[in-house]
Amino acid sequence: MENYQRIIEEIYSDLKSIEDTGKVANYIPELGSISADNFGINITTIDTKSFGIGNYKDKFSIQSISKILCLTLAYKLEGEKLWERIDVEPSGNPFNSLLQLESDCGKPRNPFINAGAIVVCDILISHLKSPKENFLSFCRDISNNTTLHYSEKVAKSEKKTGFRNVALCNFIKSFDNIKNNVDEVLDFYFHICSLEMSCKELSQIFLFLTDDNFRNHKGDRILTMAQAKRVNAIMLTCGFYDESGEFAFRVGLPGKSGVGGGIVAIHPDKYCIAVWSPKLNKKGNSYKGMLFLEKFTTKTASSIF
Ligand code: GLN
Repeated sequence: MENYQRIIEEIYSDLKSIEDTGKVANYIPELGSISADNFGINITTIDTKSFGIGNYKDKFSIQSISKILCLTLAYKLEGEKLWERIDVEPSGNPFNSLLQLESDCGKPRNPFINAGAIVVCDILISHLKSPKENFLSFCRDISNNTTLHYSEKVAKSEKKTGFRNVALCNFIKSFDNIKNNVDEVLDFYFHICSLEMSCKELSQIFLFLTDDNFRNHKGDRILTMAQAKRVNAIMLTCGFYDESGEFAFRVGLPGKSGVGGGIVAIHPDKYCIAVWSPKLNKKGNSYKGMLFLEKFTTKTASSIF
């Protein structure tokens, strides 16, 4: 049994005051007001032991990390038909790029770039009676955590400045790969991105991707084993946009980042770890978060490779 608490404390103090060359995201104005000094880590093991350090209990905007939860619910509801509307290839492009959609006729490369997540949101709207409420209940049910909520402030803030997402949604609709009203799809997308969680909560909610036998408090399985394997595979190949190769190279785990500065990474069979440090590198991924995880999988010899 690894001494996870000691190891995360060691890496935390090594990295706490190093120079951080990243920048806090401010293209969503509300995110710009977060203190850059926040730094938290939490790991939850497959047998639900939890170890945390720093700001691991503070809730923050999980942003694109919620794309995993949207994908999970859509995959449950839609099954393999999902892949008729979204591909599973790394895009090698920034998260908000419009570039490939033209030649790909409106079929996004994967569910983790914005284009793909917007199509996933459209699919969810077609299935759900009250998408925002139903999605939130789904998240609360997975983690048995009724404190999960959206930040209306952050959702509103992104609505004001989310011009690229508006463009993406309209562009995809022109190829008929958005079935619902564009404003409704975007409102839902901005809300799922505004979900707030702490590192501790994040490392708990994704346990269903670490454990083939996972059941929630109601005794329900979240995904089949084959589906969980696929979600992990997409996280490994696409979770960090045009830095997915770099993350696999340095960390060696399936993972997903968000522009709020959070990263979750999964060791199928061992643990889920979440890191939060708001300053982002040029690719929109947490600078210290990546560094932390690189050191962590090296020290614990626990990458999947
Ligand atoms: N809400 C953000 C956006 O659409 C999510 C991006 C991210 O976290 N990478 O721009």
